Amino acid sequence: MDKINVVCPHCGGVNAIPLKETYTKASCGHCKASLLDTKPLSLNTETFDRLMLNDQRLVIADFWAPWCGPCRSMAPAFEEAAKSFALKAQFVKINTEEEQTIAGRFSIRSIPTIIAFKNNRIVDQISGALPASQIIAWVRKHL
Ligand SMILES: [Zn+2]
Repeated sequence: MDKINVVCPHCGGVNAIPLKETYTKASCGHCKASLLDTKPLSLNTETFDRLMLNDQRLVIADFWAPWCGPCRSMAPAFEEAAKSFALKAQFVKINTEEEQTIAGRFSIRSIPTIIAFKNNRIVDQISGALPASQIIAWVRKHL
């Protein structure tokens, strides 16, 4: 069976898991915590790079800032959408105010912007606050 590398959201350890349509149970081989947790991870430059280099799944990154009203209003929708992709895609959040290095690297001009990455490359990006249903539909296109 094909395997895919997944970075544990809890300890950052790399796990090779069988590639499946859906997952009902999966625990990290390093810290034993569940790999099915979908809460978006808040990343800094170091943890973002580590994820990009070690995780072979689709990574969905929400570039936001605390002062941005539409960003704050989209946050629950982003969390909700993540629940549909347990272990299929890793949802992450980048605070562009604190992590200007990453924001600059991808020339983020307006927020919120969501970028889909696969194997450290940009697959697609979309700007503006979206409801959960639209985020889910957009992510599904790239799975
Ligand atoms: Zn772990």
